Amino acid sequence: MGPSFLIGALRRSNATGELRNAHPLRALALGSVLTLILTAILVTGVVLWSASRSDEVTKEWRLQLVSDALTSRLQKISTDQESVADWDEAVVNTRDVFNREWVDVNLGVWMYDYFKHDRVYILNAQNRVLYAMADGKETFVGEGGKPDGLVGALATSLRQQIATTQPLVGAKKHIPRTHDLGFVEGRPALVSVMALVPHSGAVSQERGTESLIASVRFLDASFLTEMSDAYVLNGVRFTRTNDIAPDEQSYTFKNDAGETIGRFVWKPRLPGAKILSDVLPVLAIGLFFIGLAITFLIQGLRRTYTELVTSEAQARHLALHDALTGLPNRAFLNDRLDEALTDVKKGHGQIALMFLDLDRFKQVNDTLGHAAGDALIRELAANLNITLRPGDALARMGGDEFAIIMHDVADRTEVEELCLDIVSAVSRPFDILGNSAMVGISIGVAMAPEAGVDRSELARKADIALYQAKKNGTQRFQFFTEEMSADVQQRRTLECELRDALDAPGQLEIVYQPIYSADLAGISSVEALARWHHPRLGAISPIVFIALAEECGLIDRLGDWVLRQACTTARTWDVGTVAVNVSPTQFRQKDFAERVFAILNESGLSPNRLEIEITESTLLDGSDSSTRGLKVLREAGIKIALDDFGTGYSSLSYLMRLEVDRIKIDKSFVRHLGDSAQSCSIVQAIVTMAHAVGVAVTAEGVETGDQQEFLSRVGCNNLQGYLLSPPVSALGLVELFGSKKIPPRERDIGSAVA
Ligand code: C2E
Ligand code: MG
Ligand code: MG
Repeated sequence: MGPSFLIGALRRSNATGELRNAHPLRALALGSVLTLILTAILVTGVVLWSASRSDEVTKEWRLQLVSDALTSRLQKISTDQESVADWDEAVVNTRDVFNREWVDVNLGVWMYDYFKHDRVYILNAQNRVLYAMADGKETFVGEGGKPDGLVGALATSLRQQIATTQPLVGAKKHIPRTHDLGFVEGRPALVSVMALVPHSGAVSQERGTESLIASVRFLDASFLTEMSDAYVLNGVRFTRTNDIAPDEQSYTFKNDAGETIGRFVWKPRLPGAKILSDVLPVLAIGLFFIGLAITFLIQGLRRTYTELVTSEAQARHLALHDALTGLPNRAFLNDRLDEALTDVKKGHGQIALMFLDLDRFKQVNDTLGHAAGDALIRELAANLNITLRPGDALARMGGDEFAIIMHDVADRTEVEELCLDIVSAVSRPFDILGNSAMVGISIGVAMAPEAGVDRSELARKADIALYQAKKNGTQRFQFFTEEMSADVQQRRTLECELRDALDAPGQLEIVYQPIYSADLAGISSVEALARWHHPRLGAISPIVFIALAEECGLIDRLGDWVLRQACTTARTWDVGTVAVNVSPTQFRQKDFAERVFAILNESGLSPNRLEIEITESTLLDGSDSSTRGLKVLREAGIKIALDDFGTGYSSLSYLMRLEVDRIKIDKSFVRHLGDSAQSCSIVQAIVTMAHAVGVAVTAEGVETGDQQEFLSRVGCNNLQGYLLSPPVSALGLVELFGSKKIPPRERDIGSAVA
């Protein structure tokens, strides 16, 4: 599996996150659509209901209207009749002597002309027809039979009414009468029958002697037209059947006995349809725009949300991954380690945590540039990935440090095999931007549960193992052991003790080693070397405590102290220069040059009597502050010496381009002068090339007369070594000065080269 598995897992978790997070948006969209649909249904429902309700109300109202109209038409016939029934002359002309002409003019034709009564009958006290008028024309005069049908029935009914009630004179509304709906001559009609009664006391009338007037109004075309005009009954017709179309409305009318006479049928003009046709399009357009607005809103939200989710995923990815290699980073590894350790705690197998650190990565960066360094890291990440077993996790912890979690480890051999694979994969030369680079890798391993099940504890132990692997150099991987822990503990203690020593510098001392002119004429300069007299451990090598000071950030304090001591002490000495070693970390400080000047100022030593010894790595640092520092120091007259020359990484020709005043050939070359012709040639070449570019040469570690003799012969300017003098205390040096070996003060580097 490896990192791809981790990335996959993250992707999966992102994907779930998106799904989980997309849910509210979908719910919002669904909610909005549902709300819109419900609103549409509700509003449409209300509109439809209002339309149908208004139709119903209109229909009910129209039915009531038609019912009222029929009643009032029927009553109107009675009222029409009242105008002639309450009349002395009508009584006289119909009862006493039947005046045909008078009856025709005043009761027959009059009723037709004036009130549009279709039929008028005058009946005598026996209900026999004395006169009949049809459609404005007299149709019968004489004494006929009793009328049949509804007219006859109403006349009979009226006679019974008269017999039981006392007719009142002069009160029209009390004139005996009766009316009903029914059929006359087979046609639907309104029929009213009324007694003719005297108006004044001048004419008397006995009960039972009254003549009757019967009027018929057919519910014919003219009646329907009249109804239609008065009550807006569109296309009204009469029917006795049920042939009513669905879009028609009908009114069923009945006689007093409750028998159905027939129906008026018409096409109602309903406002509902109009309301619908007016409102629905507006409603539809409104809903459409609301829908559109919601769609835009949701789309906008969706876009914003997608961007948010994407940037969140990117931020999450960036937070958990290394930008250069795309590998999981320290934070991600910690998560994975916690997960793995949870399983281990439950008794599920064992895991190995491996910390990996590149060797000589700095040199690649320094010589080939940072782009090459980046390319190397990328290439290495890819190589490591290939070597992993499926399921193992690889992460970049920063710089040239990587970490691997091996899951389900069967035994140490399995881990060792992976370590060996990695070491051999990394030991091959890398082809970086057209250059071949050789690096190595050191691995520290801590196994869980063996070394602990706490993340930071396990990491600490893997780190200790890595430190040991680096320290050992030869063996490139190291499993954590408790002894290492003790070692680290000792280191910590030493760190604290160094801090204390710096606070109360009685334990620290500077010794000075004289450097002689090659002809041994005298001491040309001295090199200041730090000493730590540990109360418990005795003398500790500067190689050990300088490295410790660099690691724990005390080097600046220590360096300043050495420089201050050396300058102050050397000021009074009658010696050319005092050389002070400066570590790369110290030199890299931005304010290093300023601090040197301050100390020179403080001690009163002239800048041209100070020589600063740096190593190749300081020169190759290439950082702005280092380059600038070098320039500023040299401009001020301070000399720069390149210490331990030949042990570093850089080529001679490259170094020759660098601006230094002196190189110090490392003692490892000097040591082999007697037994290695190659060493002799190298030393010879170094001296020749250095002189060619005007740089003085000091040889370190001169222990034998042969060495001294050879080095003088090949042209070294100065010699330093136990043969001539070991490093001595300041007092010891003063004694040395007292002897006759003190060289002339003006014997400086320039004249030596010349
Ligand atoms: P270095 O600057 O190359 O100093 C020379 C070292 O060689 C000294 O070791 C010195 O004692 C030793 N030496 C001198 N003559 C001979 C000889 O004939 N044979 C052999 N085998 N060795 C000889 P020392 O004093 O132990 O210092 C070791 C290194 O520690 C120094 O190497 C220097 O790099 C570093 N160092 C010492 N003092 C300081 C300091 O104050 N600051 C810094 N940054 N580094 C220091
Ligand atoms: Mg030195
Ligand atoms: Mg040296």
